[in-house]
Amino acid sequence: MRLYGKEPLVEVLEEAAGENRLSHAILLTGEKGSGRRTMAKFIAKQFMCGAVPCESCVVCNKIDADGHPDIIYVQQKCKDGKYNIDDVRECVSKSAAVKPNDGDVKIYIFENSDELSPAIQDTLLKNIEEPEAWNRFIFLCENSGNLLTTIRSRVTEYRIPECTPEQCCECLVKEFGVDKVKAKELSQTMSGNIGKCLDVLNGGDEVKLMDTARHIAAGIAGKSGYLVCAALAEQSGRKEYAAVLEYLAGILRDALAVRAGGDLCSCGKAEAKAVAKVFDEAAVAAMLDKIFEVNSAGALNLNLALCSAYLTSGLNF
Ligand SMILES: [Zn+2]
Repeated sequence: MRLYGKEPLVEVLEEAAGENRLSHAILLTGEKGSGRRTMAKFIAKQFMCGAVPCESCVVCNKIDADGHPDIIYVQQKCKDGKYNIDDVRECVSKSAAVKPNDGDVKIYIFENSDELSPAIQDTLLKNIEEPEAWNRFIFLCENSGNLLTTIRSRVTEYRIPECTPEQCCECLVKEFGVDKVKAKELSQTMSGNIGKCLDVLNGGDEVKLMDTARHIAAGIAGKSGYLVCAALAEQSGRKEYAAVLEYLAGILRDALAVRAGGDLCSCGKAEAKAVAKVFDEAAVAAMLDKIFEVNSAGALNLNLALCSAYLTSGLNF
C-alpha cells in the first residue's frame, strides 16, 4: 500500500537502510492515527525484506497480515492500558536470547511507548544496549518526552510526517473506497489524520468523543453551564478529555468562521452556527483561549474536575 504523506520519511529510511545505517532500535513519534503502525510495518519489511521492500513477497505479506512469527507486538496487559513489567520481562528479556523462527531478525514492537513505566524502560535498557545480533526494537509513541533520556539517547528517533487533508482524502477514496464527498469532509474535520477518519467510519471511539464535543458546544450555545459540566464529567481519561477539547476547539473555530463568512470543517457545524448566533467573536475567542490553556502541556496533569471548573468559569454565561 502507498504510504500517503509519508514520502519524506520513507526516503530517509530507504537511504539509511540502503547504506546499512538503519538503527536496531527506532522510535517513531506521531499522534494517534498518524500512521505509526503502518510505518513500523514498513521498517519491519526493511529489516526482513530489503531497504526498499518489495511489498509482494511472503515476508511482506505476512507482516501486512500481522502473521509473522518473528514480529512480536508487546501487549499492554494492565487494565489502565499500561504495560506490565513482569509481562515485558517474560515477553522480551527472556525471549531476546532465542533465535528467530523464520529469518535473520526478530522485531519487538511497542505500539504505545508512552505507557511504559520508567521501571520497565530501565528493564529494556540492557536489551537495547547490548542486543543479540538478531534483535530489533521499534517504539511508537505520541510524545517522546514521556521516555527516559537513557532510552532516547539509544534509539534513532523519527517524527511521522502529517498528511494534508488532500492526501488523507485521496487515501480514503483510493484505498478504502470511501465516497469522495464524505472523504473530503472527514479529512478536513480530522485535519488529515487517516487513522481517526477510519475510526469514525468504523464507528469507533472517536465518534463518542465528537458527540461529547457537540454536546458541550450545544450547552455553550444554550448558555447551560450544567450541560457543559455534565458532558465534561463523562470523560475519565486524560487522553479522551484532551481529544474532546480539541474537537470542541474545532467547533468554536467554526463559530468564528460562521461570523467571518468562512468555510466550516469541524465535527459540529450545526452547533458552531448555534454558538455564532449567541456569542460574538471576542467571546468565542476568549473561550478558545481557555480551552488551549487547559489543553496545554502540563495543565491536564491536574485534577480533571478542576480543569472543568476552570474552563466553565471562563464561559461567561
Ligand atoms: Zn518483500
